Formats: sequence, structure tokens, C-alpha cells
Amino acid sequence: MYKMTDYKGKKISNKTALQTKLVRVGSNRSNYGETSEAIFMNSGFCYDDAAVAESRFNGSAPGYVYSRYTNPTLRALEERLIALEEGAEEACVMASGMAAVFASIMCDIKPGDHIISTKVLFGSCHYIINTILPRIGVEVTLVDGHDLTQWKKAFKKNTTQVFVESPANPTLLLVDIAEVAKLCKKHKARFIVDNIFAGPVIQKPIKLGADVVVYSTTKHMDGHGRTLGGAVLSTEKFIKETLLPFHRHTGPALSPFNAWVILKALESYGLRIERHCENAVKIAKFLEGHKNIEKVMYPTLKGHPHYNIAKKQMSNGGPLVAFYVKGGKKKAFSFLNKLQIVDISNNLGDAKSLITHPATTTHSNIDVKTRETIGLTDGLLRLSVGLEDVNDLINDLANALK
Ligand SMILES: *Cc1c(COP(=O)(O)O)cnc(C)c1O
Repeated sequence: MYKMTDYKGKKISNKTALQTKLVRVGSNRSNYGETSEAIFMNSGFCYDDAAVAESRFNGSAPGYVYSRYTNPTLRALEERLIALEEGAEEACVMASGMAAVFASIMCDIKPGDHIISTKVLFGSCHYIINTILPRIGVEVTLVDGHDLTQWKKAFKKNTTQVFVESPANPTLLLVDIAEVAKLCKKHKARFIVDNIFAGPVIQKPIKLGADVVVYSTTKHMDGHGRTLGGAVLSTEKFIKETLLPFHRHTGPALSPFNAWVILKALESYGLRIERHCENAVKIAKFLEGHKNIEKVMYPTLKGHPHYNIAKKQMSNGGPLVAFYVKGGKKKAFSFLNKLQIVDISNNLGDAKSLITHPATTTHSNIDVKTRETIGLTDGLLRLSVGLEDVNDLINDLANALK
């Protein structure tokens, strides 16, 4: 009934505001004129004749060939993400955030290369950098991410990549992205930033000088805890020439259904993130004043050790709050068990507020000694602030802290 070539989108000017782009970019309508984007839940494509198949495969004609490569729904999501990420020219979506992190590093690394990263990382990022890479002969140096002196010393002749999270999961420590970007340029190392905790509205790594930005769309982009997904954004050259060959042939493809859910969720992403942050800062301030709390980590509050870096590169403190309860694991567990609204979950970035005890869950694969040195202690809790009424959340936390 309709052909892919019937699909037409409105031209959205680059000058339109972010919220307009989030609703409009990537929206291609068929000749049915559907309002909401359709899902292309297909693995393969057919060709009118053999010559068309040949030209699609040799790249001389546009069009899709296989959903492991890309597909109209995946492409719609990629276009919307490119519009969202300032400075990005191209995107590649993947099955999860970890698929995106792994591909962004592995697509261009070889034995003898050297990578620099930070001591605090999400558990799975930690595993890739500290277990998988050494196994294939890649040298690894870990630094305290905020300390530029350590960064300057860490670069070597064979440094080809730098990978950071800022804010880092779970302690919300920061890296000065612009300063590390300068060092990467000087040493010709590719600078990859996992921007999941801040997100593209609050922090713009490519504008600050990063080469590659990585997301888990599983978090606030989906925002309702429904799908797994990931994305890598960068220059057209890096995505097309370096990342796509790796992606196509190793298969971390995103399901079109998940891509569609994420695409639709992005329409309200800007609004949701605003409210997440509004709630988060109120909660951080409440916790700061509480007698049973040892320390609160929220980037835009003065108590955060890297407050000055946050002021330089984040337009907002973000949707996560990390804090230390007095009394270690025992008190942390009893606090968690008393919560009536906030759920205990290792996930984050949901409309529902979720709280985790990283030392025994997401970061339990890191040995105790290392955990102690990076502030990942038994009293640490990571709260992903949701979209519930903030007063209800504060009351819930207050009751559980009694
Ligand atoms: C969740 C997370 C990831 C992994 O994303 P998935 O979609 O769960 O694979 C990577 N980095 C950080 C900082 C995360 O919080």
C-alpha cells in the first residue's frame, strides 16, 4: 500500500528551540498521514529488482537493507538525538547503554594502546576498562577525575583514548570536561564522555571539547523504566567510518519497538528533566540539614567538593542525589527498608523515585579496598529522584531517617 519513499518529514529548522526539536525532529509520515510516528517492526527489507539490492549494498543508492544496520524507526530516534545533542553530527543507537559504551571504546582500540579513565565508574564500565581491556593487551591508567595534575602525568605516547563519566556513578564526582578535552587534543587521544548522569540538556560535552558522547537511553530518556537502549553521538566521520562497521558486524542492534518507545518519550524529556532536577535540589537541601546524614553530594550545592567544576559545565545539578547516612550498612539498610514511596532498585532515571545501596549492588564487583578509597562506602546511597510530589518524597525520607 505504501512505500518507504512515500515517507516525508517536515523540515525542522536548526534554529528552532530544543523543546520543538524534541517533539518534531525525526518525525516522518507515511501517506496515511498518521500523527504519531509509526513503528517499523521489521528485520529485513525487499527490493523492487536485483539491481536495487546491489545499489543499496554498494552504497550508491539510499535506503535500508537490514535492521541490524538501521531501520526507519531507529533512524527517527537517531535524528531526534542528534538534534538534542549540541555539536553532534551523527548518532548510532544500540541495545543498551553498556553496548554503546563498549562499542565506542572497542571499535578503535588494539593491543599496545593506552587508555586513561577515572577511579570512580559505573560497575560495568569499570569491568570493561579494568578487566576486558587489560586482557587484550591495552594499558590502563586510572586517575582521580577532578585532579588535573594526575591527568597531565597520565598521558603517554600510546594514549589513544580517554573515557570519563561526569557526574560519575554513584558518588557524583566531576571531571572538568573542557580541561581534559584540551589535554586530549594535545596528545591526540579520543575523548569519550559518558553523559548519562547529567544528560544533554544540562551538560553539553561536545561543545566543551569532547569527541564522543555516550548515553544509556534506559535512564531519563525513556524515563519510565520500560526499555533498555543506548546511543553514541559524534562527528559524521567517526560514526560512519569507525563505529558503524564495528556496530554492523558485531550486532548490538536496538529493537525498533524500544526505539519507538524512546522516540516518543523524548517528546516530554525536556519537561521531565526540569521537574526531576527541581525535586532533586529540594531533596538534596533537605538531606543536607538532617542530623542522621553525614554528607550530601549534589553538584550545584556548595558542599560538593567539585562545586566549581559544576558551575562551569552544568546548567543544573541533575536528577540524582548521593548521600552518606551515619551508621554504615546497618543504618543504610534500615533506612531503605522503612521507605514507603521510594523503591529500592538498582535502576535509575524513572518517573518513580528509586534508591540503591551501591556497595552491595551496582558496585559490588569492585573490591572493598578500592571502594573505600573512592568514597564508595557502606553508608553511601544513590537516589534517583522521580516525578512524584516533592513534599511527599521529603516526608517519606524524613520518616525513614527517624
Ligand atoms: C546505567 C548506566 C550505564 C549502562 O546503561 P544500560 O542501559 O543499563 O546498559 C552506563 N553508564 C552509566 C553512568 C550508567 O548509569
